[in-house]
Amino acid sequence: MVVSKAWTLRQHFQGFPKASDFHLREETLPQPKNGQVLLEAVFLSVDPYMRPYSQTMMKEGDVMIGSQVAKVIQSYNPSFPVGCHVVSDCGWRSHWVCDGAELTPVLPDWPQDIPLSLALGAIGMPGLTALYGLEEVCEIKKGETLLVNAAAGAVGSVVGQIAKIKGCRVVGCAGTDTKVSYLKELGFDQVFNYKTVTSLEESLREAAPHGYDCYFENVGGKFSSVVMPQMREYGRIAVCGSISMYNDTTPQTGPYVHTYMIFKQLRMEGFLCARWKHKHQQSLRRLMAWMTEGKLRCNEHITSGFNNMPAAFMGMLQGDNIGKAVVKVYCHIQVLSEFRVIRGTTCQLGVGTWKC
Ligand code: NAP
Repeated sequence: MVVSKAWTLRQHFQGFPKASDFHLREETLPQPKNGQVLLEAVFLSVDPYMRPYSQTMMKEGDVMIGSQVAKVIQSYNPSFPVGCHVVSDCGWRSHWVCDGAELTPVLPDWPQDIPLSLALGAIGMPGLTALYGLEEVCEIKKGETLLVNAAAGAVGSVVGQIAKIKGCRVVGCAGTDTKVSYLKELGFDQVFNYKTVTSLEESLREAAPHGYDCYFENVGGKFSSVVMPQMREYGRIAVCGSISMYNDTTPQTGPYVHTYMIFKQLRMEGFLCARWKHKHQQSLRRLMAWMTEGKLRCNEHITSGFNNMPAAFMGMLQGDNIGKAVVKVYCHIQVLSEFRVIRGTTCQLGVGTWKC
């Protein structure tokens, strides 16, 4: 029998999450039966959606929701042999027993030099979100101007790069100067630090004097209100997220968008990545192709150690990450330098030390 570790929601978050809102407990797992597998977490994802979902979909004491790349370490299911890697939505758990119905194998021909953690990032849900928001919601076209905020994050950094691949002009906003430099390296046309500019309105206008055809919205709130007047006629807004509102204790109110929506004839559409589940496999292959061709680069902010899950989650919410924030559980290599670069993919170490 295996004893698993699991992080639970001790109490609902009030405002920004704090360490005491989480509880680490041990669970004795049942022996896997016929058709089942035993999973061991390798990489766990920390994502903004966990904050609003905890409020609406979880009760106190539940295991935190989330995805992970896990290794099959015991198998009574021929579709998932020992040693294979899968993406599982089993939450913040170190081990789990389940049947194959809940598992997604990582792409079968995953290149050896591409980190498996990217199955939680650019070659996973955030990458798919970027692709669908641009193609299905914005219906972006060559030559158009796109604005994306939280641009140096998991979704935003892929959004900007795909828009560049499609021949668009890309403006991005991020919260530190290091993030701004990173986005320039990725080929964004105009980037600025929204926290240090004197006027967000003027900076947006300077970056695109003729306005924005498409707006990939990750932030919401006041930021969005400033963008609306700068949308071009027939502009499209993909409402992907509203992270600036997730920790609010009092709901934010207007200004309201209606006048701009009408007179500029805008289309604004919220979406969830899962809407296009039927396209996921084909879309992951497209993302992987861009990556292996060197057209898509990504950074990972890696926190080491399952015990640091809450710290990694809170760090991501406050903007510590460049690229995708992930937690690495087991590591068999000793890391000597701060960065390792694999085919243009940079892994940056965050909180904690690597377990060797
Ligand atoms: P991320 O961008 O990797 O990390 C979150 C980033 O948000 C932080 O690094 C920080 O960057 C920024 N941020 C935090 N608080 C902020 C605030 N008050 N105002 C402005 N920016 C703030 O996260 P992600 O996974 O890529 O997600 C980005 C957005 O997409 C989130 O809103 C998320 O909920 C949404 N999302 C939606 C779907 C979907 O299916 N609709 C799927 C995935 C993600 P700065 O340093 O730049 O502030």
